[in-house]
Amino acid sequence: MQRLEILARQLTAGSATNDRTPLLASRDVYDSMHRKSVEDPEGFWGELALGYHWQNKFPARGHMSYNTDVGRGKIDVQFFCGGTTNIAYNCLDRWVAAGRGDDPCVLWEGNDENERRTVTYRQMLEDVCRLSNWLTSRGVKKGDSVTIYLPMVAELPAAMLACARIGAVHSVVFAGFSAEALAQRIVDCQGKVVLTASGVMRGAKAVPLKAIVDDAAKLAAKGGQPVTSVLCLEVPSALRAANTPWDASRDVWWGDAIPIQPPTCPPVWLEAEDRSFLLYTSGSTGKPKGVVHSVGGYMVGVGESCRYLYDMRPGDVVFTTADCGWITGHSYLAYGPLLCGCTVVILGGIPTHPDGGRCWRMVERYKVRQFYTAPTLLRSLLQLGDAWPRQSDLSSLRILASAGEPMNEHAWHWFHEMIGGSRCPVVDTWWQTETGNGMITPLPATWFQAKAGAAGVPFFGVLPVILDPATGKELPGNAPAEGVLALRGVWPAMARTLYGDHERWEQVYFAPYKGYYFTGDGARRDEDGHYWITGRVDDVINVSGHRIGTAEVESSLTEHADCAEAAVIGVDHALKGQAIYAFVTLRGVDHQNDAMRKTLMDHVRKSIGPFAVPDTIHWAPALPKTRSGKIMRRVLRKIASGQEKELGDVSTLAEPGVVEMLIKLRGK
Ligand code: ATP
Ligand code: MG
Repeated sequence: MQRLEILARQLTAGSATNDRTPLLASRDVYDSMHRKSVEDPEGFWGELALGYHWQNKFPARGHMSYNTDVGRGKIDVQFFCGGTTNIAYNCLDRWVAAGRGDDPCVLWEGNDENERRTVTYRQMLEDVCRLSNWLTSRGVKKGDSVTIYLPMVAELPAAMLACARIGAVHSVVFAGFSAEALAQRIVDCQGKVVLTASGVMRGAKAVPLKAIVDDAAKLAAKGGQPVTSVLCLEVPSALRAANTPWDASRDVWWGDAIPIQPPTCPPVWLEAEDRSFLLYTSGSTGKPKGVVHSVGGYMVGVGESCRYLYDMRPGDVVFTTADCGWITGHSYLAYGPLLCGCTVVILGGIPTHPDGGRCWRMVERYKVRQFYTAPTLLRSLLQLGDAWPRQSDLSSLRILASAGEPMNEHAWHWFHEMIGGSRCPVVDTWWQTETGNGMITPLPATWFQAKAGAAGVPFFGVLPVILDPATGKELPGNAPAEGVLALRGVWPAMARTLYGDHERWEQVYFAPYKGYYFTGDGARRDEDGHYWITGRVDDVINVSGHRIGTAEVESSLTEHADCAEAAVIGVDHALKGQAIYAFVTLRGVDHQNDAMRKTLMDHVRKSIGPFAVPDTIHWAPALPKTRSGKIMRRVLRKIASGQEKELGDVSTLAEPGVVEMLIKLRGK
């Protein structure tokens, strides 16, 4: 059956088809495909991969190998060995060659709702080729890193694809990061070339991106990584070229350099296991991790997840609200939908600007079929009231998707009923930067009984297990259980390593529980085999969808000369999901005042970015610690939220008097 389906796909690849035969027509189809995907991953993925263009075909057998057991040597995963391909070719050329060059590839809207642009597949291919040629002219070759620090313009996915076309490894850095954070990422990936813009409008505020890049380049040079070329897109609404700081020996304007490049560029055929891109995670454990993805495995895994989880077909209009600076923007805004021949809607401004109806008007305007968002945005939209979605015709919607953090039940029901008219499945998928594609998920099928707030069931190739946190032993079979979420086996789109630090890749993900991929999250499995994510095993704060590692904010605070120690926790926030709450111990108590608070907040703004600034700084002459010296965050959370009567077991607290002192200082 699967083979026939692939044949049918190849035959219909050229046209936006009306065929909507469900891919997962029954529980049996899902069960048998899932079974095959874990029993014979090589055969299963080998067949699905035939739906993509391979310049050299990989052999039907012997293309896959893996070791995920640190006890047995190096962690290594390989799929489609012997095959060569190119993701950009599969995203663009394939559709143009099939006669779809005039179909819209990107529908873009700026911060100002009247600023609109349509880019067809043919134009996108030409733009990408010109950019690839420019990169090559600057000496960028296969395997070289390129940093992309762009706002959400159509040029951002074009820049990603231009790198992919010539085998350069892009590192997209979210354009809200500060110069220091950008510099750290440039140094880590050894990137000589930066693609950026003069500035960006965020709501009513202009942010001068090029000036940030200039500062980052200075810092990167000090850190041993000179930036030799900066390509800068003029965004006149934010900052005109004439007012943009400039270094003529290094910088070139996009508008000058790109249009004069030839509009064709042959793709570089890459080995399936070559690196495709790297992406830094938020770095809850300190130094950000440069997660490295493969070419072939990432392409097939992401493309197939788009088809099976979000029912994306050629011609579908997909609106993903994520920024390309995060993995959702890579897999479900840029690469995945284009691999499926869809039209991608991009919103280049704040989704609630100028008002709460913006996203819904866009759904109506472009007849969006798949709407992919994150719980934080849903919570803000919900708060703005039902009148906004009611003003727009949302009847084109078929699939509502979400990822990034747990969705509370209230938001789930609002999404399902108010936005989806109770007709669209809510596909709230659990996954990670490292997993590449969706992992545990509700299925977009009428027979599937989704549960509000649950992540759902495993996607193909995924074998979730619940481990007992105390013993590390697997809690048996499919019985209800709660503990640490780990994954057995391998799947094509999983990351292959951390940039320049394979040992850290092994230590963080494979050493904690031998033979398993450790997710860092906790989960509960219910009696129907659905998984519920219970949160992080360690600590991370999610502020309006930006994941911020507590360790990163703490190390920024303690960088300041007057700060002796800091402990950062997340507290519930009605709109942002979580807000940052910092306990700070100063060197000398006489500066415990608002001026000092401001100094520390400014310091975090500069070293990480505005989104990481604590909402509250609570003076703490000392912190509650265990006898072994570990800060007891559990206790801090209770103090911050005024629940000091429920401190729980404090028998390991080194100095119990500290708690009382902190309670007295709350709000001071
Ligand atoms: P770092 O690894 O540096 O701490 P991060 O984990 O915040 O960064 P991501 O890879 O973007 O970066 O986020 C993945 C995490 O997001 C998951 O491990 C999980 O905690 C959470 N998550 C993602 N999707 C869901 C979901 N549908 N439901 C609940 N939690 C989710
Ligand atoms: Mg993570």
